[in-house]
Amino acid sequence: MVAGGLVRQVGVGGGQGRSLAVPGFVDLQVNGFAGVDFLGADVAAYGEVGGALLRSGVTAFQPTFISSPPGAYLAALDVAGRAQSTAVGPRLLGVHLEGPFLSPQFAGAHDPAHLVDPQVDLADRLCDAGPVRYMTLAPERPGALDLIAHLVARGITVAVGHTDADAPTAHAAFDRGARAVTHIHNAQRRWRARDPGVAGAALARRDVVVQAIVDGVHLAPETTLAAFLAARGRFALVTDAIEAAGLPDGRYRLGDRDVTVNGGAARLADGTLAGSVLSMDAAVRNLVALGATIVEAVEAATRVPAGLVGRPELGTLRPGTPADLVVLDDDLLVQRTVVRGEEHAG
Ligand code: ZN
Repeated sequence: MVAGGLVRQVGVGGGQGRSLAVPGFVDLQVNGFAGVDFLGADVAAYGEVGGALLRSGVTAFQPTFISSPPGAYLAALDVAGRAQSTAVGPRLLGVHLEGPFLSPQFAGAHDPAHLVDPQVDLADRLCDAGPVRYMTLAPERPGALDLIAHLVARGITVAVGHTDADAPTAHAAFDRGARAVTHIHNAQRRWRARDPGVAGAALARRDVVVQAIVDGVHLAPETTLAAFLAARGRFALVTDAIEAAGLPDGRYRLGDRDVTVNGGAARLADGTLAGSVLSMDAAVRNLVALGATIVEAVEAATRVPAGLVGRPELGTLRPGTPADLVVLDDDLLVQRTVVRGEEHAG
């Protein structure tokens, strides 16, 4: 039961067939969705995409900006701040800056020309320009470890990704306050027997959240399941969705990059994967299909990401928590989504 935007009572309902109410999904990495690329979006576009996110069960998200020139960030951060203050649609938790302090060796879809060494001044300028809550960086770049400590002191959640860091460097980053690894096994130093890199360090540490893109494209089933099993209880689903999510195959944008979507994979012209067309509800279903329980898969979309960004109340349904929830049917398809106690048609 929901009243005044809060959960009042939790229990088993009657007479509505078999359905399951779970906390609304929390997606910490969304470049775009349903025709909107957040880096170039205006406030109205945020409003337009909100309904599509809600239909995928997402009630809280972080618009994510790929590495860009400083001017592009500043404009996009200003828009994100204004979109956040409108408080309609899914909750805009804050912006995830994926870059620009990343490794050119593991740039993925990021333009290497935009990647720079960590600079506290630039980081502060970006964080002052809008609601930055989260940053992915490469800890092996000079100055990165000090920047991690600086960002953590500012209340920014730090993740390591797009990185050539070896395991000792990854451990140093986690010891300085980095709390997560961004899209494990993608765009990072490969895990070898005596050189396990960021992936090995993250999987071996109980205090690190392991994020994965479970779309059947970015990771082999065995790779996904092995990471999930190693990081049980601290495994988080992200979509890394781009504007093509929910739309037909074709040509799209990711920041200032041209992307072609074909058969569920989004790629640059050279074949490099460039985000995904995944939705959060599909990610939950995919993880269950690989062998996770429904509870585990839902937690990977709710409790774990919400806790990582300091919003544990958004990852659970208890009396007094915000009424953000999703009703799933037997096939884990979204039937209804409620955010701030208000229903949105599924
Ligand atoms: Zn990435």
